Amino acid sequence: MTLVTSFRVGRLQCHALEGGRQRLDGGAMFGVVPKPLWEKRIPADDRNRIPLGLRCLLVEHEAGPVLVDTGIGNKESDKFRQIYGVENAGTKGPTQLEDALAEAGCKPADVKFVINSHLHFDHAGGNTFVEDGPTDRRTGEPDRLSVRPSVRLSFPNATYAVQKGELDFARHTNERTAASYLAPNFEPVSAVDRWNLLEGDGEVLPGISVIRTPGHVPHHQCIMVRDGGETACFLADLVPTSAHVPLPWIMGYDLEPLVTFETKRRVLGQAAAEGWILVFEHDPERALGRVVQDGKSFAYQALDTR
Ligand SMILES: [Zn+2]
Repeated sequence: MTLVTSFRVGRLQCHALEGGRQRLDGGAMFGVVPKPLWEKRIPADDRNRIPLGLRCLLVEHEAGPVLVDTGIGNKESDKFRQIYGVENAGTKGPTQLEDALAEAGCKPADVKFVINSHLHFDHAGGNTFVEDGPTDRRTGEPDRLSVRPSVRLSFPNATYAVQKGELDFARHTNERTAASYLAPNFEPVSAVDRWNLLEGDGEVLPGISVIRTPGHVPHHQCIMVRDGGETACFLADLVPTSAHVPLPWIMGYDLEPLVTFETKRRVLGQAAAEGWILVFEHDPERALGRVVQDGKSFAYQALDTR
């Protein structure tokens, strides 16, 4: 199976990278949409969970490779991985993301910039990784008792970018938001002073910019790639799957769903008018697509039908 879907935006070579899978409650993923409607789009398992991708974006930029979001990483417990149905084991590195990067011809040490849409564990978990401790000489198993495993940056030569407000938000959680923000995903980046903290919309590199897209969380951002009159948008959790293109199909996880609604109306309106390529981070099948106006709402369109 290929882990890479490549496409071009003007002169910029881009790759959608399959970082693995997770499973989340279908009802929570579709908010107020009734199950008979959403299960036609993505069927649920016997625990009412639906399969979701952990897709990232790699842009080959003249300043160096730029990686957008980093999946779940390898730091979580077996219990956590079972609850969220995480399948992201790697053969060339800590996770499948490193395998996908290799398929795209990129080593973790090459990555020059990491941009996080936000700091939820399924978007920033792969910012860091845990190294196995030494092996027990008798059993050949990792010797977990004698050495505390150390968390390291997955991309040791990269600058990491996120909205300043999002880092503040991740550090000051309440009972509703705490489960999604795990400090080992972002504090090691702070510890080595590797954050480029963004404030609002703006260019990160020539051709790569961010737009604030609040709703899911207050400082969520989408990542824009623009060159030669073409535009691609990494939607992240603004529109996690192609099933979430219709305006009222909004996740129950979103902290401010009515804000998401207005953000979607604005962003998808521009995407439809300008024919943007859209990258769906969590869609289990469709990495890319476009949207077209559909009455007052929007509909998904496959990329090659334009
Ligand atoms: Zn999220």
